[in-house]
Amino acid sequence: MWTDTRPPAEMPKLFERGTDVISLAGGLPDLDVLPLAEISAQLAGLVRLGGKLALQYTTPHVAKALVPAVADLMAREDGHADAGNLIPTSGSQMGLTAVALALGSPGDTILVQTPAYPGATAAFRTAGLLPHAAAEDADGLDPQQLRRDVAALRAAGHTVRLLYTNPTFQNPTGATLAVPRRTEILAACRELDLLLVEDNPYGLLGFDGTTTTLFQALDPQQVVYLGTFSKIFAPGLRSGWIAAPEHLRYDLARVAEIISLSPSALAQGALAAHYARSGWTDLIDRYRDSYRERCALMADALDAELGADGPWQWQRPDGGFYLWLRHRDRADAGPYALAAAARGVSVVPGGHFSIDGEHADGLRLCFSNVPRKKITEGIGRLAAALTETPSA
Ligand code: PMP
Repeated sequence: MWTDTRPPAEMPKLFERGTDVISLAGGLPDLDVLPLAEISAQLAGLVRLGGKLALQYTTPHVAKALVPAVADLMAREDGHADAGNLIPTSGSQMGLTAVALALGSPGDTILVQTPAYPGATAAFRTAGLLPHAAAEDADGLDPQQLRRDVAALRAAGHTVRLLYTNPTFQNPTGATLAVPRRTEILAACRELDLLLVEDNPYGLLGFDGTTTTLFQALDPQQVVYLGTFSKIFAPGLRSGWIAAPEHLRYDLARVAEIISLSPSALAQGALAAHYARSGWTDLIDRYRDSYRERCALMADALDAELGADGPWQWQRPDGGFYLWLRHRDRADAGPYALAAAARGVSVVPGGHFSIDGEHADGLRLCFSNVPRKKITEGIGRLAAALTETPSA
């Protein structure tokens, strides 16, 4: 089993050696689409005209000017945000940590949809929570099995209060949970008194613009929603938000303040200024166009190199950043990832997305930030590694 426990930010480094490496490892956005001149003028204006505010500590609230921008984003997936239910974060990674610290207690079990973003399981573990893989069937999270598993865990003395999911264009599989299934999961959560943590960085990045109604829209009282500007604007601004039911707001806001004291007024100002000038549609469309094209190039290359009948299987995603390969015979993908690294292409093996090695047969390929002309070559190198017998 692949047992590396280094933090997720270090994973790409694990594989990158020399300048000729093609990285399909890091989940980075394609910042070529950003209007850099406009952003730089806005930042300069913020400092020139309001520097003493923009560079000062600020209150632990989503800035007033940014609330409509957040509400607009959430409304695109039928969600709801207003000044009363929002808590600012430095991105969903902080949101995950704040949720774990504020809503869990050390020793609690947290149910996690797997394969899962490693930063989420790391945040939960660091807060003392015990991640437990939530059961799935062919349609994703399985509400009936959830009922049985929670009952069994509680009967064995475990405290279970939280269910974590990244339900739309999931990292790492690219899969999306359909709305009827979301409704069933929420019914189970209400019965079981589970809060659902909805982590949604990729929901607006459907290649054809299709969106899926948020869990938060279906039951705002049962859901703690984590939003981020990292994938629809830029991760370097380190800005996001939590939308939470009123009764949880105080605890979450208190922990958020302990973690970061205050959000960045400069970053919030830049986001609000961009929204006021340009809205979101243009930028999101440009991101979608980039990812649709890159994903098609990668999937076409995989079709050509690996074929449909070989040991490695995958589905074309409809959005997001990732393609997920699985070994038909459930072979450990770790040695294949090392073989790929030796051939100059980096991918992340499925052990990183597992709680207990249960997805070690997977490989995550990220298409969002690979130069177009390197995609075919990268998949060529990967295919060479995947079709040889690994030595370890
Ligand atoms: N959740 C998921 C599912 C992610 O993929 C990521 C980043 N890759 C994050 C949270 C954290 O993102 P950020 O802190 O930049 O908002």
